[in-house]
Amino acid sequence: MNKVYPVKIIANTSIAPNTWLLRCNRMWEFEAGQVVGISFHPDDEPRLYSIASGTQHHEVWILYTVKPGGLLTPQLSTRNKGDTIYMTDPFGNFVCREDKAVWIATGTGIAPFASMFFSGQHTKKKLIQGSRSKDGLYFHDFFYSELGRDYQPCCSRIGEEGCFRGRVTDYLANLEMIDAEIPYYLCGSAEMVVDVRDLLIARGVPFERIMAEIFF
Ligand SMILES: Cc1cc2nc3c(=O)[nH]c(=O)nc-3n(C[C@H](O)[C@H](O)[C@H](O)COP(=O)(O)OP(=O)(O)OC[C@H]3O[C@@H](n4cnc5c(N)ncnc54)[C@H](O)[C@@H]3O)c2cc1C
Repeated sequence: MNKVYPVKIIANTSIAPNTWLLRCNRMWEFEAGQVVGISFHPDDEPRLYSIASGTQHHEVWILYTVKPGGLLTPQLSTRNKGDTIYMTDPFGNFVCREDKAVWIATGTGIAPFASMFFSGQHTKKKLIQGSRSKDGLYFHDFFYSELGRDYQPCCSRIGEEGCFRGRVTDYLANLEMIDAEIPYYLCGSAEMVVDVRDLLIARGVPFERIMAEIFF
């Protein structure tokens, strides 16, 4: 059973349509890629969220979208600086210890990779980030300025400047060569993870080199 802590909200800001960045004070050490449970009461069943901030950061960042009719997120988006919520200890094994790897994310699935990036683990990594439109490429400016050619934004909507036009699967399908010797880390919806995993396996990447975190 994970320990549950009361934490104070430092800020809770809308950063894109329907998307919020929650910043709280930090109670524990964690590894980039881990998740926490969040609830409004210590006895409630917590919802899981990936930590988006770096391991050296004194705050915890959570990137979330509001699910209409959901039990947690519509209310969470109305909470303000100084309010108390409950957060569990961090846990989970979606951590990247390899030197070289490809990180693939859509939507809020970018959160664990943002944490790895802000923790300084991005050397020799390629990041492929997908969204319908550019406003869903969360943390884009950080990745763009730091990763250069190792950052590939993909937008399925026409006319998004500087992005591959299409989904992450279209981008991968268009690549002449896919390196089957390195690990691939996928994070996002079940649909994206299954589609990307099938594509990578079809292009020769062994199943055990594909690590996935599904947000359900
Ligand atoms: C490992 C992991 C990490 C995650 N990390 C993140 C993250 O970093 N950011 C993020 O945004 N999300 C993340 N998620 C998803 C997150 O945990 C929640 O599922 C999500 O935020 C929904 O929370 P909610 O309580 O608002 O909605 P819920 O109450 O779970 O409802 C979700 C949707 O289902 C509908 N629904 C609920 N009950 C029913 C029902 N009985 N019949 C029909 N429809 C119903 C609701 O209307 C709503 O639209 C993660 C999930 C996992 C498993």
